[in-house]
Amino acid sequence: MKKILIGTHNQGKFREIAHLISKKIKKISPIVLKISSPKETGKTFNANSKLKANYFAKFVNFPVISDDSGLCIKSLNYKPGIYSARLAKKHGSFTKAMRVLLKKMKNKKDRSAYFICSLTFKNTKKKSVTVTGKINGTISKKIIGKNGFGYDPIFIPKLYKKTFGQIPQSKKMLIDHRYLAFKKLKKKIKI
Ligand code: IMP
Repeated sequence: MKKILIGTHNQGKFREIAHLISKKIKKISPIVLKISSPKETGKTFNANSKLKANYFAKFVNFPVISDDSGLCIKSLNYKPGIYSARLAKKHGSFTKAMRVLLKKMKNKKDRSAYFICSLTFKNTKKKSVTVTGKINGTISKKIIGKNGFGYDPIFIPKLYKKTFGQIPQSKKMLIDHRYLAFKKLKKKIKI
């Protein structure tokens, strides 16, 4: 059976990426192989997703797929952006990070935001492809919903009235930034 390493320690991301890849391919987690995460030293989502794919590819002799993603809020200068995961770490949890963001948004009229995902696929011949997917939406006034992961409970995707935290994960997986990036990737490579 063919294998692919999904280069993330984030269970939510792993689930979503695994769901998009053919059932005929065995999905391997770096956690199972006891591979730690690389330092995210890039200044952009693309730089970080490439850096992760290059790093994880050194440990295996089968293809690797990695993502770097985050939430960008227009009125907060597109923050937390590449620092989305680090913001939660700084405050101790995603709930606390969401509270901090909602507080900063209190008097902001413009609540527009987007989730973005840069996805890099690297094969055993060391050839790599990077694509990005983006979903626009708005930031809710409260933390709502228990589905999904990360900042899902404060993001309302465009054309919807509910947060990603309220939308069933099976549905979210088929509209979000990772899905949109994966669709682009599939046009460029066989996966
Ligand atoms: P990184 O790509 O490992 O730097 O982490 C990105 C962070 O952005 C994750 O830890 C999540 O908190 C957040 N994020 C990315 N995609 C999503 C999503 O689909 N839903 C909720 N949060 C997300």
